Amino acid sequence: MKIGFIGLGNMGGPMAANLAAAGHEVIGFDLAAPAPNGVSMADSGAAAANGVEAVITMLPNGAILRSVADEIIPAMAAGTLFIDCSTVDVESARSVADQAVGAGLAPVDAPVSGGTTGAAAGTLTFMAGGPDAAFRGAEPLFEIMGQKAVHCGPSGNGQAAKICNNMILGATMVATCEAFALADKLGLERQSMFDVVSTSSGYSWTMNAYCPAPGIGPQSPADNDYKPGFAAELMLKDLRLSQQAAEAVDADTPMGQRATALYAQFVEDEDGLGMDFSAMLPRFVAKGRG
Ligand code: NAD
Repeated sequence: MKIGFIGLGNMGGPMAANLAAAGHEVIGFDLAAPAPNGVSMADSGAAAANGVEAVITMLPNGAILRSVADEIIPAMAAGTLFIDCSTVDVESARSVADQAVGAGLAPVDAPVSGGTTGAAAGTLTFMAGGPDAAFRGAEPLFEIMGQKAVHCGPSGNGQAAKICNNMILGATMVATCEAFALADKLGLERQSMFDVVSTSSGYSWTMNAYCPAPGIGPQSPADNDYKPGFAAELMLKDLRLSQQAAEAVDADTPMGQRATALYAQFVEDEDGLGMDFSAMLPRFVAKGRG
């Protein structure tokens, strides 16, 4: 396939390189990032999107996605797949998809989980929204860049699934970290806490697979001075998207709201910027009841 790839940063770069390594012809465009292995570069987004069978975008946010879409949609031939893998607000995803359908394109919103490690290893999970035929067209590309793709329904539902998952993740990480900090003060060894909770009803991915306490459970960013991993500011971005969506549809999300406020404080007023999102644990320990 001939594929245009726009947004070749930490995630898009390795994803584009994997498509090229699998034998696809990939034409890339980015305002700043260098050409990934095997990818030839175009001079503009429109040039990368012209004359290809699929365009993939991996951009920072919804506003940038909308402006790139305005530029590339007129350059794309009817029937072309338009796969956006960025994490953006549901509204932008739906509006760009409508615009694409109006131009005869096949849109898929397909945000990912798995981070930069998953992007490099080709083991991402894609959560996709869009028409059935568009999803089926994108599936062979998802198979190269990832290990799983779930079709979640119409356009925007991929983004909806992503922010619901990450709202659970953020709130659960906060709960796990505050419980460890409480256990410390009660004189409960962290290892005992892990042994009990990881096999009891308080277990979760944050406890069992990504334990925020160093030296406990499987290797995690806590064992590497809380270097990300999944950075606290990216968690904050996704939590904010969840609250923006909740507001738009009048959903009551008090835990998501609290987690958003805590990550905002951590990233913007404390030492959280550039730290893994599990660094909430040392933050709670240092802070006490404030
Ligand atoms: P990044 O900042 O490394 O990459 C974004 C790239 O887009 C940059 O190289 C930038 O130059 C380019 N860009 C910006 N505006 C552009 C334009 N108008 N035209 C062309 N290129 C443009 O970010 P990233 O970490 O690769 O993340 C990309 C997306 O993936 C984000 O939406 C993020 O939320 C999501 N995501 C990231 C991770 C992660 O761990 N990094 C995990 C899951 C999802």
